[in-house]
Amino acid sequence: MIHIKGAKPFDVLLDGGKIRKVGKVTEKADQVVDAKGLVVVPGLIDMHVHFREPGREDKETIATGAAAAVAGGFTSVAVMANSGRVCDDEVGVVYVKTRSREAGLANVFPVGAVTKGLKGEELAELGKMAVAGAVAFSDDGMPIMNSELMRRALEYAKMFGKPILSHCEDATLTRGAVMNEGAVAAELGLKGYPNAAEAAMAARDCYLAALTGAHVHICHVSARETVGVVRQAKKNGIRVTAEAAPHHLMLTDETLRKYESKYKMSPPLRAAEDVEAVVAAVADGTIDAIASDHAPHTAEEKEQELAACPNGVIGLETTLGVVLSIRKIPFDRAIDAMTAAPARILDLVGKGVLEEGADADVTLIDPKAAWTVDPSAFRSKGRCTPYDGLKLAGRAVHVFVGGKLCT
Ligand SMILES: [Zn+2]
Ligand SMILES: [Zn+2]
Repeated sequence: MIHIKGAKPFDVLLDGGKIRKVGKVTEKADQVVDAKGLVVVPGLIDMHVHFREPGREDKETIATGAAAAVAGGFTSVAVMANSGRVCDDEVGVVYVKTRSREAGLANVFPVGAVTKGLKGEELAELGKMAVAGAVAFSDDGMPIMNSELMRRALEYAKMFGKPILSHCEDATLTRGAVMNEGAVAAELGLKGYPNAAEAAMAARDCYLAALTGAHVHICHVSARETVGVVRQAKKNGIRVTAEAAPHHLMLTDETLRKYESKYKMSPPLRAAEDVEAVVAAVADGTIDAIASDHAPHTAEEKEQELAACPNGVIGLETTLGVVLSIRKIPFDRAIDAMTAAPARILDLVGKGVLEEGADADVTLIDPKAAWTVDPSAFRSKGRCTPYDGLKLAGRAVHVFVGGKLCT
């Protein structure tokens, strides 16, 4: 038994991988963790990460990714299917589960591909992957351009009670795009990715969710128009949920004036009005979850010129500090967006809550701890972060996964 003592808002007693008690603890524990000055929250959940194993272990392995997760306060992550070998069958799903068990750190939940090889042509074996343990389906990294295929995927996923996590991008509008379409791109002479390319696909997906009764989840909302689409769809009773990435809550396309690849991701950093709309949507719950879209690449790849380098930055070890620094998102909502909300979306039973009988996944946060982002200290193999050198307040001090102290 482990007694987490003196944390706000209450003490917690862990026993045998479960939360035994929340509140006043009178039992004598084998171990007492002094948590004075810390806030106890359910283990954080990041529902959108990319680990590159199998196939691109030079960028990230399941073990290094899981180590980055617990270092950032995350006890569970959902890993997208676009690893070097695409996770589009039960072998891929079982592989992720086995490797994460061996790593023995954060829980790593596999997301299965929607289409074979992420090619957008033929549906993968969603049923077999669901039975093997896939928590959701997604071709993330690639949009599903074929609407008929997306309809069938939603119908199929619904039969297994799983959501489709949609990377909304009309690829015909974004070919060759390097950054957000707008005044900055025009000035820099770079090809832009318009808000409409995201919002139009989000609208299509919401209508398809209405048509099929399935659950669609909109990944990394970046455009104010997409916020409007999600808000209206929820009002209409459509089964839609959404997430935002930390960089879309803090940074704008003005950063691209430096031509640095650490500001290149998909969807791109948008205008200030978009950032404001996405922050407001997280604050009011229109956007349910916050997820890092942790996307490690090698230094060689990211050091190429802006047009040639791949999209994506890492985020597992900075998300909590970045999110807590955004004043317009209240602390409790921020934590909800990284615990109960993703647990609900992915139906992770026993996760995302601090209550008796739930899994002993617990994060202890020092909301005042001041620290400076230093990529050389990251557990992730990735080093490319837009927050290099940024001073943040708030970080995870201790993380328990299944009752085991991991950091
Ligand atoms: Zn994506
Ligand atoms: Zn992604």
